[in-house]
Amino acid sequence: MVCFRWGKFFLWVGLAGLAGLGVGQWAAWVGSYLRPMVVFPLLVGCVFGGMLVFLIRLLDLAHRGSVLVGVVFASAVCVGSEHGGYYLQTQREYERTLAEWQTKTRGLAALSSSFGQAIQQQLPPPPATWGEYLRRQVEQGRRIGPWLIQGGWVWASWAVEAALTLAAALILVGLTLRWPYCSTCQSWYRVVRQGRVPSQQLAQWREVLERDVSLSGPAPRFRLLECLGRCTPGRLELVWEDADGQVQTCPRELQAAQREKLDALWQAAASSEEDSSPPATPASSDLPRG
Ligand SMILES: [Zn+2]
Repeated sequence: MVCFRWGKFFLWVGLAGLAGLGVGQWAAWVGSYLRPMVVFPLLVGCVFGGMLVFLIRLLDLAHRGSVLVGVVFASAVCVGSEHGGYYLQTQREYERTLAEWQTKTRGLAALSSSFGQAIQQQLPPPPATWGEYLRRQVEQGRRIGPWLIQGGWVWASWAVEAALTLAAALILVGLTLRWPYCSTCQSWYRVVRQGRVPSQQLAQWREVLERDVSLSGPAPRFRLLECLGRCTPGRLELVWEDADGQVQTCPRELQAAQREKLDALWQAAASSEEDSSPPATPASSDLPRG
């Protein structure tokens, strides 16, 4: 049972919100160059989801309710931040164009101040607020392929994009929540050792795990996972190919005795590796010449 903690909740929601803000600004920057339909919001969702996964692992957060609230809140921040980024771009674009006009027409404006003002009025002023920017976008409409959508359809298209971003982030986060978690010390399991089972030790591994690991392909791979507090002897995950070429996996919570035996096997493998390291071969110049 994973307990809810206020401190962790606020830290998570705050950091996730910051991540959403940052990813939204990045998305607005990338989107100003290229913004393919459907693909783009999914891409943003993947980048954003990746950051959330990093935070969930960093904070050792596994309380599902907290995670869900944070993901939904931060997704809204992310989408808002992206549209905010486009609004700021419009402002900057206006200022740049205005400066260019003023440079080009400096001579004419010097002749008559009213002429200078007339030039400035030629440029439609940018939206004063973010809300006005959104309203103008809705009025102008949005081009999707051969269609120009307007009004409520623009809002609907934004909602669909936001949903795609949220869905991509939720999938990544959902996969992370399936990782083993220790509720005693409130931490995710970490990989502390991984590699291949040495073929000469396969019989001993079978004996320790009481499981038949038949060998047809390459030696089985293993991963040893432990929680931060090392509350249990650990969790071993074994992946191998059986005689039919099917990939088999065997995750297992180890018993203390099993862990001891495995530690001894790893030690034996490490020392045998040291012993069998090849002696220094003589350089070719030292070899007798025929
Ligand atoms: Zn633990």
